[in-house]
Amino acid sequence: MIQDIEPKIYHAAYESGCIQDKSVLLLFFGDRVLIHRGKNAMLPCYEELQRRFGLSKSEKSVFQYLFSIDETKYFCMRGKELKIETDGGDYEYVKIRSLREFAAREDCFAVSTGYQLYNWYQDNRYCGRCGQNLEAGKKERILFCPECRNVFYPKIAPAVIVAVTDGERILVTKYAGREYKKYALIAGFCEIGETAEDTVRREVMEEVGLRVKNIRYYKSQPWGFDSNLLLGYFAQLDGEDRVRIEEEELAEAKWKDRGEISDMDDGISLTREMMEVFAKGKEKLL
Ligand SMILES: [Zn+2]
Repeated sequence: MIQDIEPKIYHAAYESGCIQDKSVLLLFFGDRVLIHRGKNAMLPCYEELQRRFGLSKSEKSVFQYLFSIDETKYFCMRGKELKIETDGGDYEYVKIRSLREFAAREDCFAVSTGYQLYNWYQDNRYCGRCGQNLEAGKKERILFCPECRNVFYPKIAPAVIVAVTDGERILVTKYAGREYKKYALIAGFCEIGETAEDTVRREVMEEVGLRVKNIRYYKSQPWGFDSNLLLGYFAQLDGEDRVRIEEEELAEAKWKDRGEISDMDDGISLTREMMEVFAKGKEKLL
């Protein structure tokens, strides 16, 4: 999956140090990120961007520490969005969601996770209580208001992915109005006051009108593209198998036989790994 970057190690702990020449600088613009094509290291370091584009510390934005992978520290810019003019050279802004098709998994994970943090910083520039500019914490990953002491923590939205099975069949879906056109599984956000298992039962009922039983936890996955923590579950059909789709959410939902599953593990998404687990009959071992 996207987070499996061994032998490299992701360090989530917060640090307050300054950006260094070899630090990776993730430059986001809208839903795009700046990369360097034709090199092994696609994500440019600070020194490289300074040399090539004259990026300097006098920029009004703040270089914000994000996380580390092994010894490499990752930063983004906090404050304003900076768009570098790349002049059609080796550097270009690419859609962050397209990275999964060509980038190394480590880069894909770094961009996904960096994007979640970048969005959180961009969306929380002022205090919701008193309107003051927020400041970043020095010792922990928080934003705080110097006026009323209000504290903001990073946004992580838990959501479930559910593989509904019925013996040798699994329920696959296609989402309405999304770029991702391959088959997926039932998915939805946890509501306040629910357990994740409650979310599984509610989402399956809302999206396809089915009851489930024997809900078993599989694995979780951070999915920074949408600020999610995804929790994967297998669940068995309980009773009636007739699917009634919620048309606002789904374009299609149908039962597929074990031998018909073609969307195997892509090394990135929990959904695809779960589909392969079912295709190989390994869900019986859970
Ligand atoms: Zn305030």
